[in-house]
Amino acid sequence: MKPSACAATLAAAALLTSLTTTTPAQAASLPGVDMEALVKAAQIDPRRASEKPTPGAKASVLLVERVPAPLTPPGPRNKHAGTIPAKRKGRNTMGTTLNKVLSVAAAAAAIGGTAVAAAPPASAADRDGKCDSGEFCYYFNSGNKGSVSDFRGSVADYGAKQPGCYEFKGQGSGKGKCVKNAAASVWNRTGQTVRVYYNSDHGGIYQDFKKGEKGDLNPRLKNQNASHELSPRNRVNMSFALYQARGGRLTCPFDGYQHRSGRHEGIDFARSRGSNVYALVSGKVTRVVEGRDGGAGLSTIAVYNASLRRTVIYLHTDPRNSLRAGQSIRKGQVIANEAWRGVSSSSSAHTHVEMRPGRQTHASPSGDEHLANPNPNSFWRSQGYNVR
Ligand SMILES: [Zn+2]
Repeated sequence: MKPSACAATLAAAALLTSLTTTTPAQAASLPGVDMEALVKAAQIDPRRASEKPTPGAKASVLLVERVPAPLTPPGPRNKHAGTIPAKRKGRNTMGTTLNKVLSVAAAAAAIGGTAVAAAPPASAADRDGKCDSGEFCYYFNSGNKGSVSDFRGSVADYGAKQPGCYEFKGQGSGKGKCVKNAAASVWNRTGQTVRVYYNSDHGGIYQDFKKGEKGDLNPRLKNQNASHELSPRNRVNMSFALYQARGGRLTCPFDGYQHRSGRHEGIDFARSRGSNVYALVSGKVTRVVEGRDGGAGLSTIAVYNASLRRTVIYLHTDPRNSLRAGQSIRKGQVIANEAWRGVSSSSSAHTHVEMRPGRQTHASPSGDEHLANPNPNSFWRSQGYNVR
């Protein structure tokens, strides 16, 4: 039996990699979700900040970038495992197309994330259906034909339905339609590079347009545009930043349990035992627990960043001896070595990285059905990381 924290993940990631080259690892491998909650979630207007997500809507966060995962046998138990049957009641696996449609609701439901919800449309002058100097414009048809939608800045989520979505405003075909997954060409009249993404929240595969560039979206992004970003950041993979070395990999995404019980509240990364583990975010240590190797010896390092109002928690590592609660650490500082503290098998050594809203000292239990943390992917992207 090959121990793995999240057995289905790798298989799904491999499947996806065989289809595409640039889709992030987190695009793969998430489990099925509650259909009813999804449908309800999709009805939320993401721009109404006061609107409470439908109960169960958080589950739809998982839909973003989801692809069906192949079945694999359950892995061994570890800290995350429990006794609940692995198959979740009422859950179904869904396809990518529907997932993209629902990703707006997902973004709306991602409470606690940063820059997740759709921003309100810019002023009328900016959004007048004419592609003026300084603007980035989508066209409904190829060859810069059809109705225009003009933007001055980046947008992480266009909204998916009327009323309320960003829409094509110019004369011509497509006028009044939402721009999400409906643009065929662009004209970049801003003074900087603009990146068009497959997923909301500046995620997934993308295509860059240099300043002044005009052209069609490539076949993978045509009618599949979900966000755009001016002066896109060059992000580093979390699996590299965590170890400051090659060879790390994402082994289980947020809520990525497929064949074991409970919800996974963080993201697992693995490299070799003993690898240095570096802080992904600066902050003040709120708790250090040394733990010990084996299933019963869970270790914890919790780091609170007051300006971000988030706590990042690292589990299963061997914390550096000098690390103390109250200590300030900086991003990129070595804090631990990879170990298997709270993991049943040494060959399953990994580092669980968990983002939690507010000041926390403990990780959320990930062996239960309650998902306490919001989807962290937008947070990690906002910190300059690819979630992979
Ligand atoms: Zn984990």
